[in-house]
Amino acid sequence: MIRPIRRYGDAVLHLPAEPVGEITAEVRELVRDMIETLYAAPGVGLAAPQIGVPLRLFVVDVSVGRSSQDLITLINPGFVERTGMQLEEEGCLSLPGFNATVARPQFARIKGLDLSGREVILEGKGLLARAFQHEMDHLDGRVFVEHLRGIKRDLILRKIRKQMRNGTW
Ligand SMILES: [Zn+2]
Repeated sequence: MIRPIRRYGDAVLHLPAEPVGEITAEVRELVRDMIETLYAAPGVGLAAPQIGVPLRLFVVDVSVGRSSQDLITLINPGFVERTGMQLEEEGCLSLPGFNATVARPQFARIKGLDLSGREVILEGKGLLARAFQHEMDHLDGRVFVEHLRGIKRDLILRKIRKQMRNGTW
């Protein structure tokens, strides 16, 4: 089931998420819905808080559905290592219409549980490292505009507030 994606300003996006306890049938259904919602958007990654569920899990697929082995589901993730720095433009399904250049690690090693509860360690560079960091930020209640400073950040937030007032956000 495709679930509505929460937008910047929704409280669930601005609070740290809670660890997943047992991987129940409900959690598996949540993950199925997240994957469906991600591909329908379409996007590269989606964290549970983005569909209103304050749990520490995300799905990422840098191929956006073109190659099934690129689909990653990570539960209770944590970074093991992050190195380097990249500056690329990124966006977020919770801030449709906005992009900005954000500094992210060039390489990331991350661990977490897969859907069967096994611990996995994954490595990513480039776009995948960026996606890991972007989704981890969501689990900590942070969205990418919070990494921006000054005029760039003010401009985006002003445009969002205007859309909120107009009822188009
Ligand atoms: Zn996002």
